[in-house]
Amino acid sequence: MLVPMIGATLDPSAWAELMDGFRGELVRPSDETYEELRRVWNGSIDRRPALIARCAGVADVMAAVAFARRTALRVAVRSGGHSWPGLSVCEDGLVIDLSLMKGVRVDPDRRTARVEAGVLLGELDRETQAFGLAVPAGIVTHTGVAGLTLGGGIGHLMRKYGLTIDQLRSVDLVTADGTVLKASDDENPELFWGVRGGGGNFGIVTSFEYRLNPLGPTVMAGPVYWHMHDAPEVLRFYRDWITDIPDELTTVVNFRKAPASPSLPADLHGEPIVAVLCTYAGAVEEGEKVIRPLKEFGAVVHDLCQPQPFVTHQASLDPGLPHGWWYYTRACDVAELTDQVIDATVEHSLRIASPRTTFPIFHLGGAIRRVGDDDTAFNGRSAGHTFNLNGVAPGDDGEGFDEEREWARGLWGALAPFHTSVYVNFLMDEGEQGIRQAYGPAKYQRLKELKKRYDPENFFRLNQNIPPE
Ligand SMILES: Cc1cc2nc3c(=O)[nH]c(=O)nc-3n(C[C@H](O)[C@H](O)[C@H](O)COP(=O)(O)OP(=O)(O)OC[C@H]3O[C@@H](n4cnc5c(N)ncnc54)[C@H](O)[C@@H]3O)c2cc1C
Repeated sequence: MLVPMIGATLDPSAWAELMDGFRGELVRPSDETYEELRRVWNGSIDRRPALIARCAGVADVMAAVAFARRTALRVAVRSGGHSWPGLSVCEDGLVIDLSLMKGVRVDPDRRTARVEAGVLLGELDRETQAFGLAVPAGIVTHTGVAGLTLGGGIGHLMRKYGLTIDQLRSVDLVTADGTVLKASDDENPELFWGVRGGGGNFGIVTSFEYRLNPLGPTVMAGPVYWHMHDAPEVLRFYRDWITDIPDELTTVVNFRKAPASPSLPADLHGEPIVAVLCTYAGAVEEGEKVIRPLKEFGAVVHDLCQPQPFVTHQASLDPGLPHGWWYYTRACDVAELTDQVIDATVEHSLRIASPRTTFPIFHLGGAIRRVGDDDTAFNGRSAGHTFNLNGVAPGDDGEGFDEEREWARGLWGALAPFHTSVYVNFLMDEGEQGIRQAYGPAKYQRLKELKKRYDPENFFRLNQNIPPE
């Protein structure tokens, strides 16, 4: 038997046991595909795992967990690979990679979908929209359903339908001791509470069962643009206007320099702009009426808010955030867009150097607040807005990255007096302090108790970690 070079502690019989019947692929540093498969979305993360176990099903996941236990290899769990800090890949350890697990089964009569962990948001929309149904999720289609759901899931449909976790009926997961469990309101309810916001701390979720909601397929959606110099007035108008909009409308404010995209007029290319990205989860004609005041405010420089297929709208931000560029993020929630919040945001945004740095401010409320704060581990239900400040250095060499990182930290610091909480899926390298802020003291303690019960040795530690002790 050829024993691979994956560390001095490797036990040949453990390797033989893993290989025996493994349906997916086991990828080692000597394999041709290794360089590509070890990479994650964020190009600034450069780690070389000893082994990548690309699982084809639950049995492969169980075998990979058993192998890691026997060999004492550190474990990273990967689904969509979109963790900003690169938590789904490790140096020297084992990556349990679920990206081959792509099954989606929609039941249009019961309005449910069973979704395997390797599915990306665009793939889920493709299947559900075929029936005019949707799971509210994030705003970039190449993000993984798994990591996004386990942290909460915010996006274009949330004010109407809630967070992604609010659609969950159940999950199947493999725990640290290799047991397969179902968690739902009826089975392991405390675990079900914890996986709805608590991330990958309690086990490897192999599939999710979601409730589906009617949507489109054509929706009134898209961005309305102004020059960034007008942003102080635009955001003051926006802040007042959103106090009175129906929950069908979710908006995301976006700051950036206009890209050289054919969908934007050439004289805007490279100019600092602010956009309000609208999604109306209801009748198109109603949406047109509701959004009209926004379209008529100030000196609009371009307007792409129009009836369009939801899946087209969902993919509109994809080109701005491709795989392999260098990304750094800082995030915070604020209660309101006060004058000080607006002015600090605009002042820093006018100083963005990179042609690709871009950041969203999500407007929360609506259905998110109608779920009880203690019903799930997610902690930001009463927040007004979520900032996700991305410093982006385009290209694969990191040129300009330090400057963009400092820019993100600078705006985040300027907003510090207004931080109320932070969304766990937008954390970077803040460490324990950030994680405690994400959950608040009571939920953090409850999650710790759950961790003690399901993962007392902290086997799953490469995540926004809640240590058992
Ligand atoms: C371009 C981009 C756009 C984004 N947009 C949004 C958005 O609109 N809304 C939003 O809410 N979030 C958004 N996010 C944040 C996103 O929710 C998180 O980055 C999320 O963790 C990504 O999930 P993933 O499966 O792709 O990541 P991965 O990197 O594979 O995993 C992320 C974390 O989850 C754990 N994990 C992954 N799969 C499993 C599993 N099956 N079981 C247990 N643990 C697992 C990993 O160990 C890791 O700690 C965005 C991120 C990016 C990069």
